[in-house]
Amino acid sequence: MDNKPKELRLILLLFGGTGDLAKRKLYPSLFNLFKKGYLQEHFAVIGTARKDLDDDKFQELVRESIANNGDEGQVKSFAAHFHYTHHDVTDLKDYSKLKDLLNKYNEEYDAQGNRIFYMSVAPRFFGQIAEAIKSEGLMSDDGYNRLMVEKPFGTSYETAEKLQKQLESGFSDNQIFRIDHYLGKEMVQNIPAIRFGNPLIDATWNKDYIKNIQVTLAEKLGVEERAGYYNTAGALLDMIQNHTFQIVGWLAMEKPASFSDKDIRAAKNAAFSKLKIYDEEGVKNNFVRGQYGKGREVWQKAYTEEPDVPSDSKNDTYVAGRLQFDTDRWQGVPFYVRTGKRLSEKQTRVDIVYKKSAFDFGEFNQDKLEEPVLSILIDPVGRIEFSLNGKDVTTEFQTRSDLLSWQVSDKDKELTPDPYERMFHDAMNGDGSNFADWTGVSISWKFVDQIAKTWDEDKAPLETYESATMGPVAADRLLAETGDRWIYRG
Ligand code: NAD
Repeated sequence: MDNKPKELRLILLLFGGTGDLAKRKLYPSLFNLFKKGYLQEHFAVIGTARKDLDDDKFQELVRESIANNGDEGQVKSFAAHFHYTHHDVTDLKDYSKLKDLLNKYNEEYDAQGNRIFYMSVAPRFFGQIAEAIKSEGLMSDDGYNRLMVEKPFGTSYETAEKLQKQLESGFSDNQIFRIDHYLGKEMVQNIPAIRFGNPLIDATWNKDYIKNIQVTLAEKLGVEERAGYYNTAGALLDMIQNHTFQIVGWLAMEKPASFSDKDIRAAKNAAFSKLKIYDEEGVKNNFVRGQYGKGREVWQKAYTEEPDVPSDSKNDTYVAGRLQFDTDRWQGVPFYVRTGKRLSEKQTRVDIVYKKSAFDFGEFNQDKLEEPVLSILIDPVGRIEFSLNGKDVTTEFQTRSDLLSWQVSDKDKELTPDPYERMFHDAMNGDGSNFADWTGVSISWKFVDQIAKTWDEDKAPLETYESATMGPVAADRLLAETGDRWIYRG
């Protein structure tokens, strides 16, 4: 089979072309697609922002952001595809010049009317921009029109729904690519490969064999310089509503009819629609909120001692909880999720805990059998571990648990595309498999809103945990209630 990349033709209109994300992530990712041959002659980027720049200055900014990633000739020819116009997204009159530029460069680059609108500006502008794209006639009639939306997507169900309505004014859901960069991570994309690519795993991916599933997104760092934003969001909105839910989607989904984005979304949504949404009592019984206290090192200050954090803040820097899906597949199987700052290690992982074998090996083996665990480590290293029962080296017959382990090689790590490169690639190919779908996002907000409300009204305790540990003991108790325990202990 010919694996040569097919050249993609398009004009990318980038709102926020001078921003941090554009410089750190978007330009390097586009450059990688250029070096690999997905982007060649027939693409252009129109950058817009408030700053008054000309094409030369903008191209200089682009060159600087990718300078270390390629030879001078490549960098120069890539940057020559970038054009700039000063633009205020809040001024409707200002959009007509974007329309003219889109038409001009479409002709010049023979982009066949394909357009991607990328909103890399503050989220409060997303709705307004999407409406203006439609009302000011920026969409093309003869190619595709796609919208890439940065996160966060709303701050509650109400605000997310309002935003969705604004986006829907011009774009249908299969034209909207909501970014969640966790979905672009190599090891997250490995989940469906492991699950559906191995009949022995696929066939046992249900309540008959699985005892519980655990998703951990642990951060070692504290709030750092993001206190202003973080203190209004907390771990629940910053990590659970979006990234954790998207990972859970791959785990909880039904088997899709095919591996197309349409079928994948349908299968995920079928599971999400059966997620049990808790009332206040349910939140209290199934979720734990925590906040980091001091650590043993002098620099490990308590959250409330961090710069720009009010000393009486009750913000959650840690969340652990139990999700329940009311489906045939998952009846009675808890999905435990947890995330937190200032934990003992940075680690993103999934642990699938299988049921213990009921087989009786005889008198010398009482209590020796373990629950087999399949672990998918996502960050900072990609690894798959499978702990299995085997025979111990003893005269009597006894079993012991041994670990099979495979790790992403240095070579594969080097070849791994940045999530943004993959997301651009997929959006340019119209593949929405690795983007958040509105049905899932709306359910995650309904679920999270209930927790936020209970906590905002201070109806559940705020547990303090020592910095550089794996969180409050209440999170251990949550699992112990049903005879479970966290597999990853830091
Ligand atoms: P930034 O503040 O660095 O850049 C914002 C850009 O918007 C600038 O180019 C600015 O000129 C432009 N802008 C601001 N007001 C404007 C206006 N009225 N009209 C036109 N342009 C205007 O922000 P950022 O960090 O690049 O973030 C961009 C988006 O990406 C945000 O939605 C953010 O939530 C999201 N995001 C960023 C990161 C990151 O690592 N920076 C990570 C995840 C998500």
